[in-house]
Amino acid sequence: MKSIKHILFCLIGILVSSAINADNHWEKVEYKTIKIKENIYAMIGQGGNLAVFTGKDGTFLIDDQFAPLTEKILKEIKKIGGEKPKFLINTHWHFDHTGGNENFGKKGTIIVAHDNVRKLLATDNTLKAFNKNISATPKEGLPIITFSKDTTFHINAETVRAFHVHNAHTNGDSVVHFNKANIIHAGDIWFNGFYPFIDVEHGGSLEGMITAATTIMNMSNENTVIIPGHGPVGNKQDLMEYRDMLTSVLNILRDYKKQGKTLEEVIKAKPTEDYDPEWGNGFLDPEQWVGIVYSGLEAP
Ligand SMILES: [Zn+2]
Repeated sequence: MKSIKHILFCLIGILVSSAINADNHWEKVEYKTIKIKENIYAMIGQGGNLAVFTGKDGTFLIDDQFAPLTEKILKEIKKIGGEKPKFLINTHWHFDHTGGNENFGKKGTIIVAHDNVRKLLATDNTLKAFNKNISATPKEGLPIITFSKDTTFHINAETVRAFHVHNAHTNGDSVVHFNKANIIHAGDIWFNGFYPFIDVEHGGSLEGMITAATTIMNMSNENTVIIPGHGPVGNKQDLMEYRDMLTSVLNILRDYKKQGKTLEEVIKAKPTEDYDPEWGNGFLDPEQWVGIVYSGLEAP
């Protein structure tokens, strides 16, 4: 868990980078490449965790972090014997997972994502929780193949299935399953070790996060390696602890919602107090997190 503190996370990274010399900032980003199985790797740099799958049929990349990091990512891919990605999947639309899209699209990489990822990237948008305006992605950076439910890649002697989970972190999340290798990239359904951001402004919900985490757990066994969107690579047991924490917090907050409490009253009552020491040290402090989640909860 302590390693989390050593990783600069996406949204904080953006805030920090706007305050210091941006070029210098990106230069300092270092990659940690973790070999999971034969030709499948997790790469942790800045922003959402990447997965890279290399082989004779071509290199397959999951997510692409930020535009200034594209060349570094390519360098890391070459180090493990890969090449310019043939395919790139976006697990969802957020800028710390799709920032390199335009660069990769211009290089001829085929970008694939859920229908709503393309819709959200194609227009100007906001992320009110972070006071951020996001400009539309140029045409070259938009997914050119989209799907509503799932899609399967048959490459490098592996079956890779990307499938949509509903209204979880956003309205367009995909989970990617390497069937034979028993590896799953969970996208931002999983923030391993800390409270997750939930994009309630664009269809995300705590209920959906819990359902999606359960879906991933049900596909996993004790040997499954699960790459989270943020935080260290983990397993089914780690994911279960996170899912159970989310469920407990949901139940607590639902009670407050039933009682008609305002967000101010809820925050004052410190509803996540028991969980904060373990889960409240990521990029969202407990108050921010409760604010995001509570505002997204349906009134009973
Ligand atoms: Zn995200």
